[in-house]
Amino acid sequence: MTTDPYAWLDKSLTTIHRADWYRSVQTIQGLPGAIVRLEGQPVINFASNDYLGLAGDQRAIAAAVAAAKEFGTGSTGSRLLSGHRELHRQLEEAIASLKQTEDALVFSSGYLANLGAIASLVGKRDLILSDRYNHSSLKNGAILSGATVIEYAHCNVEDLEDLLHQHRQQYRRCLIITDSVFSMDGDLCPLPALLDLAEKFSSMVLVDEAHATGVLGANGAGCVEHFHCTGLPLIQIGTLSKALASLGGYVAGSSTLIDFLRNRAPSWIYTTGLTPADTAAALAAINIVKQEPQRRTQLWGNVNYLKHLFAEYLPHLKLLPSQSPIICFQVDNPQAALKIAYQLKASGIFVPAIRPPTVPTSRIRISVMAIHEPAHIDKLVQTLTEIV
Ligand SMILES: *Cc1c(COP(=O)(O)O)cnc(C)c1O
Repeated sequence: MTTDPYAWLDKSLTTIHRADWYRSVQTIQGLPGAIVRLEGQPVINFASNDYLGLAGDQRAIAAAVAAAKEFGTGSTGSRLLSGHRELHRQLEEAIASLKQTEDALVFSSGYLANLGAIASLVGKRDLILSDRYNHSSLKNGAILSGATVIEYAHCNVEDLEDLLHQHRQQYRRCLIITDSVFSMDGDLCPLPALLDLAEKFSSMVLVDEAHATGVLGANGAGCVEHFHCTGLPLIQIGTLSKALASLGGYVAGSSTLIDFLRNRAPSWIYTTGLTPADTAAALAAINIVKQEPQRRTQLWGNVNYLKHLFAEYLPHLKLLPSQSPIICFQVDNPQAALKIAYQLKASGIFVPAIRPPTVPTSRIRISVMAIHEPAHIDKLVQTLTEIV
C-alpha cells in the first residue's frame, strides 16, 4: 500500500493550530506610517520596524524612483559578474562612514549577511558562543558554519566567561555572536563586557545591529556607538530594512574583513546584487539619519512618554526590561496574547502578539516610532487600561 508522502503536512498544520501557534499574513494598504490601513481599517501602527518613519518619506521614494528610471529594475547579476553599480559602492561607503569602520559590504538581506559572514568566518575546527535569545539568522548562520555551537544564558557575562574557560582552548578560532538590541525583548547586549572577554580569550565578536542602526548612539550608528565602542575590532551586521526603510543587509568592519567576505561569503557571491531602487532608498535614508538627528530625539521622547504612562496607569503590566523602542509585556499564554492583540485591533490599534516558537513566552510587542504623536500613545495606553 502506498501512502501519500505529503500527508504529514496536514497533520503538522493541525498541531500548529491546536497550540495556537498558527500564523497568517495581514494585508496593509497604502503608504507606511504612524497610521496605516490594515485590511481596510485605519489603525495606529505599533507593529513597524520603520523607527524613524522613513519608509514613506518622499525623499527616499523619489531616490528609489529615480534609480529605477536611470538604472532599471534589476541589477541583472551577482556583484562579481554584472550586478555591481556605482550606487552599491556609494551605499557601502555611506554605511562605513556612519559606522566609522574602514569598509562595509551590502548583502541582499540582513538574514543573508549573517548566514554569509558567520559561515565564512568559522568552520569545523572552531567554536561559536551564541546568546540564547539571538535572532534566527544568527542561529542558522552558526549551524551552517559547521562550528561547535554553545549557547550562553541571555546577556549573562559570567556564564559566557565560564564557557570560554571550559572550551576555548580546544578550538582554533572562537566567535561570540549576539544581537545588539534583542528583537523580541528590546534589551541590549552587554557589549563592553563581551569585548573585554573576547580580548582575554582571543575571540572574535559579531554583533547584529538590525534594530539599533539609526536608533541608538549620538549619530544613529547603533549600539556600538551607544557604548562608546566605535573603532574597536569587531564585526558589525545590520539591515537596510528597519530604520533605513529599504531592503538589504550589510557587514561593516575592517577592510581586511570586507575583502575576505567578498571572496568567501557564499550568500554574497552567489546571489544577485541589490536592486538600484533598494540601494538608492537606503542611501537616501542614511543621509536623512545623518542630517536629521531630531528624528532620534523624537523617537526617544516617544519611548520615554510611553514608559512614563505605563508606570503611571498600568503598573501591574509585566514589562520586559528594555533600552530600545521595542517595549514588550508578558502574558500568560498564546491565547491571551492573541486576545489582547485582537481587542486592540478592534479599537483601531495595531500591535502584534508574539508567540512561541519565536519566543519562549508569549508577549505583546510594541514598536515605537519617531512619527507617533502623543495622542497615538495616549490612545494605546488608554485602550490597554480597558482591556488588560
Ligand atoms: C530583522 C533582523 C534580521 C534580518 O534582517 P532582514 O534584512 O530583514 O533579513 C537580522 N537580525 C536581526 C536581529 C533582526 O532583527
